[in-house]
Amino acid sequence: MHDPPNYWYNIVPDLPRPLPPPRDPEDDYIFSRIEILPKLFPSELLDQEFTAERYVQIPAEVLDSYRRIGRPTPLARAVRLERFLDTPAKIYFKREDLSPAGSHKVNTALAQAYYAKKENIQMLTTETSAGQWGSALAYACAMFNIKCLVFMTRSSYLQKPYRKTLMKLYGAEVLPSPSDCTDVGRNLLKERPEHPGSLGIAISEAVETCMKNEGVKYAIGSVMNFVLLHQTVIGLETMKQLEEIGEKPDIMVGCVGGGSNFAGFIFPFVGKRLRDGEFKDTRFIGVESKASPKMTEGKYVYEHGDTAGYLPMLKMYTVGRNYVPPPIHAAGLRYHAVAPTLSLLIREGLIETAAYTQEEVLDAARTFARVEGIIPAPETSHAIKQVIIEAQQCRRRNLQKTIVFCFSGHGLLDLSIFEEHTE
Ligand SMILES: *Cc1c(COP(=O)(O)O)cnc(C)c1O
Repeated sequence: MHDPPNYWYNIVPDLPRPLPPPRDPEDDYIFSRIEILPKLFPSELLDQEFTAERYVQIPAEVLDSYRRIGRPTPLARAVRLERFLDTPAKIYFKREDLSPAGSHKVNTALAQAYYAKKENIQMLTTETSAGQWGSALAYACAMFNIKCLVFMTRSSYLQKPYRKTLMKLYGAEVLPSPSDCTDVGRNLLKERPEHPGSLGIAISEAVETCMKNEGVKYAIGSVMNFVLLHQTVIGLETMKQLEEIGEKPDIMVGCVGGGSNFAGFIFPFVGKRLRDGEFKDTRFIGVESKASPKMTEGKYVYEHGDTAGYLPMLKMYTVGRNYVPPPIHAAGLRYHAVAPTLSLLIREGLIETAAYTQEEVLDAARTFARVEGIIPAPETSHAIKQVIIEAQQCRRRNLQKTIVFCFSGHGLLDLSIFEEHTE
């Protein structure tokens, strides 16, 4: 396979039921969350958010930027893991860890930076905790020559210096949040000068910056339809790569924070199943952290897309935006809800879910590192845990299944976790 696809796939027109529309909260009338969307996002991204078109063309400049990060990314086979588990199953993984910032998040960051640039926006702003999203956006803004301002929760800013350095290397401005650059931040700092911050506060600061300044827009790393749309480049490539080697996936696995890498990976397959029955026996399994169990224990209700409550309410599986997960290292899986399209498909019984504890996934990560030689991100390790369980099942029942998973990112900037937990 020599070239990435030249379109993204939108699952909305193929869903078994119409997607419940975004909604404003009923209990307060301070401002309409739906009406502020054009202040927050470039207009082409909003068009993509609500489009009913099945295919959206990838602009030539974005395609070029995809080639630059090594797309199409390899679909590798974990032969050594298969042997180690002594399983008849075949295990393949899609390498999203090979991008410059180390995860799938650049796939949407590049698209968001491109549309911002095209609409003459001077700066994108966002929030980040561990820094994976912030570093993907900083990279993308550097590639499209646009300024980037990242509000990073103060606790991470102090404890995770490497991703902060990475963002700065790419030319982004990184402020510990709460900062003294916004009203929200200043008020909090007055009460508590060393406030550790939270994602909700960091989002509030990014949104305030965007509302008060012309030429500044907000970028988001997961959950919105347009983010999932951009991530389908993963699944479209995977489908073609499997075809080329004559394989059909029996089981597809991915980890779920807001759902963007997993949805991007499986939606092209799910869409074919919904349209013409292909892949009807394929099992799709989304894996979350037991620390934020929205799919396995959450409710399917309307909730804000962000912890601060600035974004419209969407119908999603959620543990509630005020839920505070225990501190876990897989920061990317702390998110309180799962994207609306993915939630609907879970509700309809098309997608299976599973949840694991930190200890369970770090064990799986250690096995993968030793056997395959690649260090997975803690988020990715949740998918690996599920893959190992499925492969062991195949061994017991002597089934030659094809298991494919999304390797969403590497863990080379998360080594401290392994230090704490490696004997
Ligand atoms: C952010 C992140 C995730 C979780 O986000 P999704 O939107 O669910 O994909 C998973 N893996 C890695 C490596 C991440 O950086």
